[in-house]
Amino acid sequence: MATDSPPNEIAAPAPTVDAGRLLDRLAALAEIGAIEGTEGCSRLAFTDADGAGRDLVVGWMGDLGLDVSVDVIGNVIGIWRPDGCDPDAAPVLTGSHIDTVATGGRYDGNLGVLAGLEVIETFASAGTPICRPIGVAFFSNEEGSRFAPDMMGSLAYVGGLSVEEALATVGVDGAIVVDELDRIGYRGSTPCPGRAPHAYVELHIEQGPVLEMAGTRIGVVESVQGISWTQITITGQSNHAGTTPMHLRRDAGYAAARIGAFVRDLAVDLGPPQVATVGAINLHPNLVNVVAASATLTVDLRNTDDAVLVDSERRLGLFLDELADQEGVTITSRSLARSEPVTFDPTVVGLVEAVAVDLGLSTLRLPSGAGHDAQMLARVCPSAMIFTPSRDGISHNPSEYTEPADIEAGTNVLARVLLHLAGRNR
Ligand SMILES: [Zn+2]
Repeated sequence: MATDSPPNEIAAPAPTVDAGRLLDRLAALAEIGAIEGTEGCSRLAFTDADGAGRDLVVGWMGDLGLDVSVDVIGNVIGIWRPDGCDPDAAPVLTGSHIDTVATGGRYDGNLGVLAGLEVIETFASAGTPICRPIGVAFFSNEEGSRFAPDMMGSLAYVGGLSVEEALATVGVDGAIVVDELDRIGYRGSTPCPGRAPHAYVELHIEQGPVLEMAGTRIGVVESVQGISWTQITITGQSNHAGTTPMHLRRDAGYAAARIGAFVRDLAVDLGPPQVATVGAINLHPNLVNVVAASATLTVDLRNTDDAVLVDSERRLGLFLDELADQEGVTITSRSLARSEPVTFDPTVVGLVEAVAVDLGLSTLRLPSGAGHDAQMLARVCPSAMIFTPSRDGISHNPSEYTEPADIEAGTNVLARVLLHLAGRNR
């Protein structure tokens, strides 16, 4: 790893990428699973559309002369080993994913994968010398909307999920991963977990409004928020809304509303980057003139500092106990998901920032509020991410959009960072 030189000592400038060529590839990939009348596409993991998208990208990898391998869970890596590089050295890896949600946009993970190909094509045409191979990966089932968990391929790649378990996963439609991989022809033979890269850098759209609001071109991603999802069930007493005096009520609806207000106050009290959301609520019997007998709601808590996230969970728990006492209701809760925050490698993060500044681009350090393959790779090698702005903060939606100039800027930053990491013998 490049810890022996300060990140502001940047290797020779990389040649400039061809944004038009990259946009053409993004458009061609978006044709597969295109959602009629929109710019978006639908390529759920391991469907025919995912298979066709994979075929297209693997074809491009072949055109570029990359060594393409497919592992047993369908992760695909294309490695560029031009003359002059040490072919056996651990590659510098970039990439992302090409599966989408059911109503996805054309950028999301596709950008990171196709930007990686664009960087290699640019280096190859310019004869840019590198010492280490550069690889482009697309990891299986990042989205997780058909098969849980999300980031399945990258998690298995780093040994966080067994291949047997991943292959046996049953989807929301009853399909099984192994059958689907066989059907689309992407159950490969390369072993998984895979070889740890020298470093991993992922370009991705922000999927949030922060960069656009700040008028910033490049997001320097320092960390990924930890996520805590809890489902809360409140049981009270159903009763007549007109005849039951207020002091005699055991109102599950009111208790649910108090929880919504509490988590909002909690996030404000803890301050950024803490966020808290009650995103789903169900009342029973859900009638205008009946005090609710029961309520089910979800709480989503996120922070980049695990100690603060744990504290927010603890304070929510204390509040639920108090609330149950005060309102005469029963409250139970169960964890739906919990992931720890991830801090990216400070040297690679600093490199991303230094490269962007050197290219005259405005930068902002920020955490990622969404999960990404890079957080899995961070377990096995120095990793970081580059964000480009998302118009109106919209993603996972056909109207997801990033300005061509921002795509170009993000890809040029990626090129320089990859060249710095791969361009010197270490
Ligand atoms: Zn993504």
